[in-house]
Amino acid sequence: MCERLWTVEPLPSIVPPMLTNDLIEKFSAIVGRAHALTSEAGIAPYLLEPRGKFSGHSPLVLRPGGTEEVSAIVRLANDTGTAIVPQGGNTGLVGAQMPAGEIVVSLSRMNRVLHVDDADNCITLEAGVTLHNAQEAASAKGLIFPLWIASQGTCQVGGNLATNAGGINMLAYGNTRDLCLGLEVVLASGDVWDGLTSLRKDNTGYDLKHLFIGCEGTLGIITAASMKLLPSPADRATVFAAVSSPVEALELLSLVRRMSGNAVVAFELMPRSGVEMSIEHAGCRDPLEGRSDWYVLFELAGFDAEGGMKTKATSILESAFEEGLVDDATVAASTQAAQDLWRIREAMSEVQRLEGGSIKHDISVPVSKVPAFLDQATALVKKLLPGCRPVPFGHIGDGNIHFNISQGVGEDREDFLAKWQDVSGKVHAIVREYGGSISAEHGIGTLKRDELAAIKQPVEMEMMRGIKQLLDPNNILNPGKVL
Ligand SMILES: Cc1cc2nc3c(=O)[nH]c(=O)nc-3n(C[C@H](O)[C@H](O)[C@H](O)COP(=O)(O)OP(=O)(O)OC[C@H]3O[C@@H](n4cnc5c(N)ncnc54)[C@H](O)[C@@H]3O)c2cc1C
Repeated sequence: MCERLWTVEPLPSIVPPMLTNDLIEKFSAIVGRAHALTSEAGIAPYLLEPRGKFSGHSPLVLRPGGTEEVSAIVRLANDTGTAIVPQGGNTGLVGAQMPAGEIVVSLSRMNRVLHVDDADNCITLEAGVTLHNAQEAASAKGLIFPLWIASQGTCQVGGNLATNAGGINMLAYGNTRDLCLGLEVVLASGDVWDGLTSLRKDNTGYDLKHLFIGCEGTLGIITAASMKLLPSPADRATVFAAVSSPVEALELLSLVRRMSGNAVVAFELMPRSGVEMSIEHAGCRDPLEGRSDWYVLFELAGFDAEGGMKTKATSILESAFEEGLVDDATVAASTQAAQDLWRIREAMSEVQRLEGGSIKHDISVPVSKVPAFLDQATALVKKLLPGCRPVPFGHIGDGNIHFNISQGVGEDREDFLAKWQDVSGKVHAIVREYGGSISAEHGIGTLKRDELAAIKQPVEMEMMRGIKQLLDPNNILNPGKVL
């Protein structure tokens, strides 16, 4: 191995120091008493994440109202060696937003859309704007902010950036990183980096925003962002189709791309087991008469005259039937019908909770390898967990599958979940055989932190530790997460 270019010292201890009353008062004074939460009831919502897998503890939640207040908090934290955890909508799935005694800095009050520019096709907003509100602000100007994830009513654009969220439209528009033009970030020193810009091209040295995108709050606190907007498609068609296997699903994707002029903006794979759970627990209707082991839900969007996309979808389905790729299908006849179809997919995460324990993986492999991965991983978990119910679903067009396994009916939840680490280690080994990733879009947090060193090259770990040390030498920003 080549000689190191820098020395990486271990980061300071991640055990948070006890907060004295005096320090709590000083932090609280920055945001004002009303926005500093210290009561058990006030803090409780910040300590439990959506799946209930991770819980945290913290003596103080601060809710700053602007960048200057965030800066003052971080400066005081750095000066006093006090660790903080930035929190957005608290929808993260890897425990990264959970405090282990640190102060929580919630961005929720920083929820102003600052500017929507339909000449530059760009939106500038504070980090605490929910994804839904960002979409609405774009839509009011006839534009779209195309990030689309099922948690969009609650998650915040700052959180989307800090996790580099992917989601359903990733296939056409890229992930959050691809949509970002510029950032404003409070650094660990308390200094503010104003990198807000609407420039599409700027090759003046290192592109620093990329360090903060996907950093899970460990390198800085994102306080504002400028994001790309796109023209709103004039017409859409949503299709739910039964396919006999993931192989046919991928062949169908190629056909849809070819015949639609690449107008496909979403292409999701779902197993019968997951569809049944959405029908059972989310009040969804079975869209097709017969049963199939697999389904795809896809959407076309474009600028044809109204109805043009449905005509295209119908002719694509005719070819798909002829080629034996699709067994049955329906094209949504109205916006409501399209929403009903999407509800089946969007509910698929939450309904699994109602079926008992679920061991989850957010993996990606090269798109062409998804069917082989699914065969191998399904056979493995059926052997390791007799009676379990695999529910693999997700963004097959991006090679990203949420390879989830629900416990067997009547099985003890805790006994089942106790096998998570062992099962995941083996599933992730298959992912690695295919050159895949053990975290396609949810991040590392604490859930996968201990696996990171095993999957990254030593030189990658060294670069990551070196960057952390440079930007947060006192390890006050979300310590113990990612690294
Ligand atoms: C039902 C459901 C569906 C989901 N679907 C998807 C999906 O399709 N694709 C996907 O990628 N994810 C998905 N997620 C995961 C989650 O919604 C995303 O990771 C989201 O981007 C997190 O945003 P948040 O505001 O809730 O962040 P939080 O959960 O609050 O925080 C997540 C991380 O970001 C950091 N952070 C938050 N705000 C800031 C900030 N302003 N500055 C610096 N760091 C910050 C936190 O410290 C933490 O490390 C889903 C979650 C749920 C519950």
